[in-house]
Amino acid sequence: WRTCLPPRMRVGIRVHWRDGEGAMAKEIQRETIRQIALRAKAMGGRAMLVGGCVRDSLRGVEPHDWDLCTSASPAQMQAVFADARVLTTGLRHGTLTVLTDGGPLEITTYRTEGGYSDGRHPDGVRFVTDIREDLARRDFTVGAMAWHPKRGLCDPFGGQTDLKNGVLRAVGDADTRFQEDALRILRGLRFASKLGFAIEPETAAAMRRQVHRLDCIAAERIREELTGLLCGRYVQRTLMAYADLITSALPELAPMQGCQQQNPHHLYDVWEHTVRAVGQVPAEPVLRWAMLLHDSGKPACKTVDEQGIGHFRGHPRASLALSRELLPRLRFSSADTERILLLVERHDTPLGDNEKLVRRSLSRIGEARFRDLLAIKKGDAVGQGTSRDYVAQLFETEALLNRVLAQEQCFSLRQLAVNGADLQALGLRGRPVGEMLHALLDAVIDGRTDNRRETLLRLARTRMEEQHDK
Ligand code: ATP
Ligand code: MG
Repeated sequence: WRTCLPPRMRVGIRVHWRDGEGAMAKEIQRETIRQIALRAKAMGGRAMLVGGCVRDSLRGVEPHDWDLCTSASPAQMQAVFADARVLTTGLRHGTLTVLTDGGPLEITTYRTEGGYSDGRHPDGVRFVTDIREDLARRDFTVGAMAWHPKRGLCDPFGGQTDLKNGVLRAVGDADTRFQEDALRILRGLRFASKLGFAIEPETAAAMRRQVHRLDCIAAERIREELTGLLCGRYVQRTLMAYADLITSALPELAPMQGCQQQNPHHLYDVWEHTVRAVGQVPAEPVLRWAMLLHDSGKPACKTVDEQGIGHFRGHPRASLALSRELLPRLRFSSADTERILLLVERHDTPLGDNEKLVRRSLSRIGEARFRDLLAIKKGDAVGQGTSRDYVAQLFETEALLNRVLAQEQCFSLRQLAVNGADLQALGLRGRPVGEMLHALLDAVIDGRTDNRRETLLRLARTRMEEQHDK
């Protein structure tokens, strides 16, 4: 297999023996692909690599998964893999999942798809023996190529040329393809954001004509594609160029576009500021979504004073309210929702410019959220395009955080030098135990006392006496 790869392909498919399980798993998988191809051949069929793995290999990028397609029928596949661990849940649509030591591997019988009366699922599939018929049902030319070790590349729609030119083009008639399945519109935007490709003008125009059909797509699928888009390397230009398509999926965000800030601290309108900020934070879904939503409440809060300066008082709360509606609609997990909401709500709240305030913030939200917020605040600050001082301040806050943590300064009950049992030994019972622990923790965080057992016990006794006297 390796020696007969075309030269560009060799870059991507070549085996790298690296340390670590990841490389090992990939190697096992590659061997499995070879075995599958051999088995398909043994039964008179053919197996080809198809879709994203061919596209990525041609780009010289290691694919994240390998999909195979075969001329063998589902029944033949099942017979050939009778001795293997397989999942047959997709078999009705021609997909057998082989569970290999390197992870699951999908192998699908060549197929075409029937009508799409619901605008998202084919009414039925028909198995075929010609790979070109199978490639014709795929959405974009760069993903509609298949590759066989002996026969080489099968590229009936000019995918290789589009790949070379960085163009995303629908296979066949673009309007029809998006009418069949509107999710393809968001897949296209995700690919544009991930690969940095330009969407071919006719394809983009068809996306715009058909985008209203997103209504019949399941919310979680929309969320997944938008998340992929937000985490793409070219997210900024995609969000700017296709803002109208994004707001078809997320209508709540439409007022951000063209909402001028009229404020010396901001160079851009709310949408452009947001887009720049999104591009600044690490490509982690929660951070990117929080950044997308952090100023979503601004348009509703805008006021302009006598000097013509724009103000957005209370906007974090308005953004929070909007996100509280939007996130459940897209069926985010409760853990992600909670993390995103906290970041949206607190994006404008100071974290602290001295150790005491940093300890206080840490005690409220913990280290992980503190670091998330720092990332959000940096993104926000850089996205404003004006205040370098503010960015510098955030780096100082980060240095303070690192110092507080490195010195193991106390900001939680867990770190406090006394515990509930110590206070019970002093005679406290029930709720006052917890109240006293928190009072002692507050004193330590504020620097009114050190975190030593004797000092804290002394302080506790004094407070008990004071309360007794009252
Ligand atoms: P990646 O896995 O890197 O996101 P991919 O191109 O492999 O990209 P997948 O979602 O893994 O995308 O799908 C594999 C292939 O199946 C695609 O390349 C495409 O040919 C086809 N495909 C997937 N979803 C659709 C769809 N909704 N409409 C048409 N073809 C699709
Ligand atoms: Mg894929």
